[in-house]
Parts: sequence; structure tokens; C-alpha cells
Amino acid sequence: MDLTIVAVSEPNKYPQFFRRLLQLDCLILPVLAALVPPDVNIRLIDETVHIKKPNYHKLKADMVALSVRTSCANRAYRISDLLRSRGITTVLGGIHPTVLPEESKRHADAVVIGEAEEAFPEAIRDFRSNRLRPFYRGNTGQSLDNLPLPRRDRLRLSNRPLVPIPTIQAGRGCPHRCSFCSVARVYGGTYRKRPVSDIIQELQVMKQSQPPLLRPLTHWRDRLLFFLDDNLLLDRRYAKELLLRLAPLNKRWYTQASVSIAKDLELLELARQAGCCILSLGLDSMVGESLKQVNKPINQPDFYQEAVERIHSFGIMVGASFIFGFDHDDAGVFEKTLDFAIDSGLDFASFHILTPYPGTPLFEQMQREERLLFPNGDWSRFDTQHVVFQPKNMSPEELQKGLEWVWKEFMSLKSIRMRGRQTANRWFFWPINLFLSGLFASPLINTSEPS
Ligand code: SF4
Repeated sequence: MDLTIVAVSEPNKYPQFFRRLLQLDCLILPVLAALVPPDVNIRLIDETVHIKKPNYHKLKADMVALSVRTSCANRAYRISDLLRSRGITTVLGGIHPTVLPEESKRHADAVVIGEAEEAFPEAIRDFRSNRLRPFYRGNTGQSLDNLPLPRRDRLRLSNRPLVPIPTIQAGRGCPHRCSFCSVARVYGGTYRKRPVSDIIQELQVMKQSQPPLLRPLTHWRDRLLFFLDDNLLLDRRYAKELLLRLAPLNKRWYTQASVSIAKDLELLELARQAGCCILSLGLDSMVGESLKQVNKPINQPDFYQEAVERIHSFGIMVGASFIFGFDHDDAGVFEKTLDFAIDSGLDFASFHILTPYPGTPLFEQMQREERLLFPNGDWSRFDTQHVVFQPKNMSPEELQKGLEWVWKEFMSLKSIRMRGRQTANRWFFWPINLFLSGLFASPLINTSEPS
């Protein structure tokens, strides 16, 4: 049996040069490849880094499995429809098919709902015995002990950027209930952790997955690591154990964390000793009322400045993400957020438009209030960079322009110079910020017209 697994990506969002140069290594493809029986021929395609999009008119396979995020759903449906018209069986899985399985099924032979570890191998088994069912439901909340090790060795060079930053996942799920977030719906309302010994074993195997020719050139790169978890340090006891085991491995890693990590000086010191170089905080908003509206009262804007200073004092750089378009946001929110982002000396930041993803309480609210601008599902705009709902205190155009203005100002050389004075690590700060500045200045970038 020939199986192709595709991580679908939005077309032409970033110039190909940047996609190929520096990028997080794709994790979902090696994770799925590890679930496939050894006698199946697998081909993996990560559309994010492909120089040329694969020619699906000519692709040969018995089955194609597509991993689908909401912003790529329309593209995935088009690919799947085309493959099916050529007699190839398709299976859709990932966040979007999990929250909208019926919609996904209209474009596929089968849909995997939820986590793939049990459901995906079952779909392959049934396909081979001509008994493929329309839906396969994964066991959300399953134990993460002894997960198969991702098959990173199956990713060919054509599927990797020149400088791929290795990625790993320590746990899944989140106990919080932010109304715009689908993590709890997809992975369950608790944070489930993998045993620390499994993570250490995976890190050791990961080193071997680089093609032999490239190993001498990439020794320094193997020290980098990104934990994909939404809140790696949430469980204090687990975090301590993980950090103590990471320390001797001499890695330089970064991850996302809640701003409350800045209150735990012992954990910050352990993170520093374990090689943490960047903590990215989901600050979301400078407006307290907005945070209450979306059920995130754990964030207190009054504490943000102190949090950045405390984390910096441990030699750890700080990133932050912000969202615009809450019901309490007015036109002043852009300047207020930008001022904080620059004055506080954030090393990195990302800016987003509030996006009511299907499956979230926010989506239901916007639907109830008839505020969705694309009620029939133009999912390609659901990428947090485009307005997809009617804001309360500004027009959709003001919201869109405000976001673009903040990005431009934050990535300007003047802002980089000002923030660079406060950075905790200029060796990382300058190259990465100049790289990102080049990316945003590129005339090729296309964030305005998704397709
Ligand atoms: S936004 Fe972050 S804290 Fe809130 S539910 Fe999602 S993962 Fe948890």
C-alpha cells in the first residue's frame, strides 16, 4: 500500500525564500508516520516548506491523509476533492476536521476526529480490508505514556527548511477556558504530560534523524529546540523534574508560558539553568475588561511590565502575543499595545486579530449575535491576520489597518534599536529581529488576500 501524508499549508503567505531558510520543523508528519505499519510505503509532504506545491493531478497513492488547520481547510478540501476524482481515497484529520467532522466528511472518504494514535492506524487497517468507515474517533484524554517516537528520519530534505528548528511536544491540553481557544475542545480540559524519561529518550533519538551528510554542519542547530506546548511550565512539579533532566543536555530552547511564570523565581532559575532562552507569554490584551470578556482573568496587565523585567533578569528573552478586536477594544488599543511592547523591551512579539474559531464559545457567541462576516465558511481568512467578524467599537477596516500598523511599527529598525537596549541576549536578539524585519519588509509577503 502507498500512503501519502500531507501537512496542508496556506499558499504564498510568506516568500518562499524565508520559508525555506528558517522554519520550525514539522512535527505532525513524523508523529503520523510513526503510527503507520512498517509494510506501508509512506511519502511525507510538508507544504509549508515546499519550493513547488506538489502536483496533485499526478500524485500516485492508494490513500492520502491530510492534516488540516482551519485556515487551510478550503485548500485541503480542494486537494481532497481532486484526489477523490482520480480514485484516490482520502482521510482528513487535525483540528478543523475534529471540530467540524460533518463538513470535512463532505470532502473526504473518512475523517479522523480527535487524537490520532488509535484512530489513524484503525483507518489504515480498515482501508486495507475494504471496510473504511466514515468517521474514526480518537480517544481525547488518552494517556501520553509510551507514545511511539516520531519518525523524523522519514522527512526528506525537500520537506525541511535549510535551518529547521527542532520541535517537540511534552504534553497536550489546557485547564483554562479562554473563550477564543479550541485547545481544551480538541485535547481536553486538563494538561496531560508525557513521562519526562520519554521526552529525554526522544531528544536522544532526534539527534540521529538528521541526514548523515548534514550532521557536521548542523551540530549547533541540534542544540536548539522548541517545545510546542501551549503552557509547558504549567504543572510546577512536572516542570521541575523536566528542567532538572534537561539541564545536562546543553540545549537552547524556547516555549510558550503563562505570564504567572514570572511569579515563580525558583522555576525561572531552573529554566535558565536548563537552557531556556526565550519564554513567549500569551499576554493577549492590555485591556483588563477584554481579558475578563474572554475568560482569561489570570492575566493582569498591571503585572506585565514587572513580568518582563523579572524574566529578563534571569537572562531569558521575552516574547509575547497580543490580540486585537475584543468588545472593549477601541481605536486607542493599537497605540497602547505598541507603546507597551516597545517600552517594556519585548524581544519578540506577534499580533493577531481576535478569531472566532469553529468549536469555541466565541464562535457560538458571534454566530448568535450574527456578527460573522463569512458565515458560509471562507476558512482561509481564519488565520488571525484577517478580520472575520464585526467588531464592536471600530469598523473591520480600522481593525485590519490597526493590526498592520502595529506589525510595521514593532518590526521597524527604530523599534528594534530601542528594544535591543533592554534585551537579555543580544546574540539571539539582533539576528532574529533583523531576519523578521526583512521578512515583514519583503514586498512579496501576502497577508491581504488569502485564497
Ligand atoms: S489560550 Fe492558552 S491559556 Fe487559554 S485555553 Fe488556550 S491554551 Fe489555555
